[in-house]
Amino acid sequence: MFRGAERIEGGRIDEHGASQLARQLRELDLPMGRLKTGTPARLDGRTIDWSALEEQPSDSEHWTMSFLGGEGRQSLPQLRCAITRTNEHTHAIIRDNLGQSPLFSGDIEGRGPRYCPSIEDKIIRFGDRDGHQVFLEPEGLDTHLVYPNGLSTSLPADVQRAFLRTLPGLAQVEVAVPGYAVEYDHIDPRALDRRLALRAMQGLFLGGQINGTTGYEEAAAQGLLAGANAAAHARDLAPLILDRAESYLGVLVDDLCLQGITEPYRMLTARAEFRLRLRADNAATRLTPVGRELGLLGEERELWWHEREVRREEAVQALGAVVGADILRAAGADMKDDGVKRPLHEWARFPAVTVDHLLEVAPALEEAGDGELLDELIQDAVYAPYVERQNAEVRALRANEAIGLPGDLDYGAIGGLSTEMVERLTLARPETLGAAARIRGITPAALAALLVAIRQHAA
Ligand SMILES: Cc1cc2nc3c(=O)[nH]c(=O)nc-3n(C[C@H](O)[C@H](O)[C@H](O)COP(=O)(O)OP(=O)(O)OC[C@H]3O[C@@H](n4cnc5c(N)ncnc54)[C@H](O)[C@@H]3O)c2cc1C
Repeated sequence: MFRGAERIEGGRIDEHGASQLARQLRELDLPMGRLKTGTPARLDGRTIDWSALEEQPSDSEHWTMSFLGGEGRQSLPQLRCAITRTNEHTHAIIRDNLGQSPLFSGDIEGRGPRYCPSIEDKIIRFGDRDGHQVFLEPEGLDTHLVYPNGLSTSLPADVQRAFLRTLPGLAQVEVAVPGYAVEYDHIDPRALDRRLALRAMQGLFLGGQINGTTGYEEAAAQGLLAGANAAAHARDLAPLILDRAESYLGVLVDDLCLQGITEPYRMLTARAEFRLRLRADNAATRLTPVGRELGLLGEERELWWHEREVRREEAVQALGAVVGADILRAAGADMKDDGVKRPLHEWARFPAVTVDHLLEVAPALEEAGDGELLDELIQDAVYAPYVERQNAEVRALRANEAIGLPGDLDYGAIGGLSTEMVERLTLARPETLGAAARIRGITPAALAALLVAIRQHAA
């Protein structure tokens, strides 16, 4: 960890670094690299002048990630944040002290996360900006600590204090813990297969930051997949393998294992090509059956799923009711009557038709759908024509995924592949022709050569 000229070895707050484990992994002679990240100072919230700042209240909707737990599942009090902003004075202090930042003195070699750069980075890269927004976020219900989101830094502690005090609301601020940068090891995720198992060592599964990803969500998702696959491996059960068309986790693993990384990888919706299928509102519908199949569901979720499937059936039936525009007009929809009768799920695509109109026409919908299920069904109806088009692409994807590439294929011996392609294919060891096609720089001609090689290998 780096802060000005300070160098500290360690792990998460109050934990040791995992140096011994890192040493053992290095001894396995895996392809490894260094990445960096950082964190802002933690401020004493009692020394912030909140009255001078614009408030940012919590979401008024009590939304949670999990569907389980019923009403009122978000039971903790919600706190508000505030916004402040850096200014020319802040930037001048940072610029004057850049020489003391390990990021710019060359002491840190690793690449940092593009989507959460340090304040030093932002000032250099976006030099023309006269300020950067900073959210002041309370860290919890029983602490005075405040996290100034947007001010990650590795400048010396006294410089941090000086530049923080130039921000509105922070003139008297006391720093509880100064910020710092962190450099850490990762392995080249192309050493893993789609189960997140290391090809070089049977039974070792890797998930999280060690695979070169950035954040909490990426780590949690991989932990789930790697954990399920480690259990499946130990018990000789079918593995959990997700593809790009059914989940973001499938996209993440595919990207990591095939392309490797050059900077900390963040899961962005833009990385998925089947975004109309991969919606937040249909996540449970997409993935619960996969988990069920592999025995990954707990009792509560299993019951919830069963009950929801019954309600879905009822709601789908209700949305199938065929009516004319006159009925919708009577329910309050402001539209012309073209004399055509359509099922309600088609009417849902008309901009003039709202959920309230549908509920008025088909009261059974209200009983069947809690808000979430209804939202999902309506999104399904709205996107149906586009989703149908995407489904054709998914069928093509899956056809190519069905053609397996032998694990011991000698790419160097295949005619028609450039040295660079041989290198990329050998590093990534794609498991299918579809996966090979997604490796950067692999051309249609190279795929044709691969197909010939697979046939010869099988013969
Ligand atoms: C300073 C900092 C700020 C960050 N801020 C954010 C943020 O704002 N948002 C965000 O999304 N991400 C952030 N990240 C990234 C995020 O913390 C990580 O990507 C994520 O925690 C990685 O999870 P993980 O499970 O892979 O590893 P870790 O969370 O590091 O977990 C590894 C665990 O393994 C344990 N361990 C190590 N060695 C052994 C051993 N030999 N035996 C047993 N256990 C062992 C460790 O003690 C630790 O508990 C930040 C990271 C850092 C360093």
